[in-house]
Formats: sequence, structure tokens, C-alpha cells
Amino acid sequence: MRDKLIVALDVDSFAKARSLVNKLYPRVKIFKVGSQLFTACGPKIIDIIRKKRAKVFLDLKFHDIPNTVKNAVIAAKKLNVFMLTVHASGGEEMLSAATSVVKRPHIVGVTVLTSQKSTVTESKVLNLAKLAKKSGVDGIVCSYKEIAAVRKKIGKRFIIVVPGIRPKGSSRGDQKRVATPKKAIEAGADFIVVGRPIVKARNSLKAAEEILQEIK
Ligand code: C5P
Repeated sequence: MRDKLIVALDVDSFAKARSLVNKLYPRVKIFKVGSQLFTACGPKIIDIIRKKRAKVFLDLKFHDIPNTVKNAVIAAKKLNVFMLTVHASGGEEMLSAATSVVKRPHIVGVTVLTSQKSTVTESKVLNLAKLAKKSGVDGIVCSYKEIAAVRKKIGKRFIIVVPGIRPKGSSRGDQKRVATPKKAIEAGADFIVVGRPIVKARNSLKAAEEILQEIK
């Protein structure tokens, strides 16, 4: 089975991130490097993950003028990450500039953050998903709630990444549109992103293994 669990390395130092990767690999094979960790320690954490033959999801949510975003995608490609994020709301020109890079990592567009609660979220997510698809973007990041509608409108060949994952009994934190790992996978997510429920667990490996068991 393809690996569906992405662990968000949301920690503040290279040492903590490396220790988590050492603990979780090879059970976990995809790690997300986001703005906190990348700002704290830069590309060296990506090298460590790649040396283990694990994959990197670079979640820096690029959102800038088309030329800058295109060059950021070229820089990410050189880091050998397998997938990265841009903000789908950056518009068609920005998204097309990002996807124009040849032999690039998968690009997924962030739609409406899972920390936001809104009554019109589904239509907003669908519009952004259509725009992303039209601009050559490979998929989107959305919450559990919008998965079915996106699959129906855009089809199977579109990556759906779902954060806001909370196993039963774990605290929501700032996330609003949440689901259990099993629910998100059953609804059609290609990947689930899990941060705090694993990173902050007393035993991170055990927490990851429980999630893997739940989605098996
Ligand atoms: O700790 P938690 O499981 O809530 O972490 C979720 C991760 O997914 C965080 O790193 C967050 O930045 C990221 N993310 C998100 N919502 C998005 C895109 C990314 O929560 N729409």
C-alpha cells in the first residue's frame, strides 16, 4: 500500500526534528517540513530525511508574484522534495508559473486552512480546486469535510492532502475542521497530515503506529 501518513515535523530545532525522524523512520516514510522548522534550521533537515530515503513534503505555502513563486519552486526542486505547497488563492497566473517548472515536485494548492471555520467553505474549496486543476496543479490541501465534493467535481487523478487529523481522544488545538485518520482515508484522502497528536505524544512511535493501524 502506498504510504498515506505524513508526519508534520513542527518543532523548533534541527536536533528535535532529527530525533523524531530517527524515531519514526522506517514506519513513517514521509515527513513535512513547514515554516517553523525550515526558518529555524534551513535545508539541512531535508538532507537528513533524504539520506534515510524518506520523502519530504515542503509546506512553505508559497504565495507571491508569479516570478518569485516559480523561482521558489525551482529552489525546492533542487532540494529533492517530493511535494510542496502553494496558496491556491494566489491566482491562475501564479499557479501556472509554479507548474511551468519542468521535472518539478508535485505541487498542491492550499485552499481554506483547516483552522478556519466558515459556512461557505465547501464552495470556496471547490472554486479553488477548479482553479488549481486548470492551472496544472497536481492537487489540493483541504479538510475532511470537502473531500467528497472535490473528488466528485475534479475526479480521481488529483492529490488530496488532509490536515486537521485528530485520533479519538486527542485535543483539537487550533484546528476546527477535524476528522479521525480512518474517516479521512475512507472519504478519499490520498495523504493525511498529522502533527501534534504524534509530535507531542509521550511515545511518538506508538502514536504513529496506532494511526497506521487505524488506516490499514
Ligand atoms: O498539529 P497538527 O496535526 O494540527 O498539524 C497540522 C499541520 O498541517 C501543521 O503543520 C499545519 O501547518 C499544516 N496545515 C494545516 N492546514 C492546512 C495546510 C497545512 O493544518 N490547510
